[in-house]
Amino acid sequence: MKNAQLILDLENTIENIPDFPKPGIQFKDITPIFLNPKLYEDVIADLANFSRGKVDAVCGIESRGYLFGIAVAVALEVPFVLIRKAGKLPPPFVGVKYDLEYGSAEIEMRTGQIKPGQRILIHDDLLATGGTTEAAARLVEKQGATVSQFSFLIGLQDLHGEERLRQFDADVYTILDYK
Ligand code: AMP
Repeated sequence: MKNAQLILDLENTIENIPDFPKPGIQFKDITPIFLNPKLYEDVIADLANFSRGKVDAVCGIESRGYLFGIAVAVALEVPFVLIRKAGKLPPPFVGVKYDLEYGSAEIEMRTGQIKPGQRILIHDDLLATGGTTEAAARLVEKQGATVSQFSFLIGLQDLHGEERLRQFDADVYTILDYK
């Protein structure tokens, strides 16, 4: 059961910026959430509720996935692990390459920060095509852990990210969905 008041509060807070950073993109700006500490607390409580007792660690995707992911991990009393864009972490690290609309990208994680057999929550602020999240899940699996949950504040339903994540047999949670 989704939290109706929280959805309403987020709808009234998140700003839609048309044509940013490119024409045709409806950019969802989450930064006004941080102007309202009570709302931030409510978001963390809701995300933590979804994952409580179900995960052994939280992996957050750079960079907006850190803003909520760390607080969720602290609320759950489990470790938080950073997934970073290539070239930022010191060795040893493991990486996964993935395709973008034009070209490719790579994400990395410090080796050994998640353990084989652990149940992992992958968290980011927003699910669009699911390309980044899919790569993050491959990175987790590469280290012998299992992705058991994905959580996001926002889901852009028309981009079908949720369908793309079905291959992982994990629960997907978005607090607020846009068409
Ligand atoms: P994707 O890999 O297509 O699911 O893209 C997800 C990543 O891109 C997330 O880390 C988002 O922060 C960012 N992103 C994609 N689309 C938007 C959007 N319309 N507004 C804000 N952030 C976006």
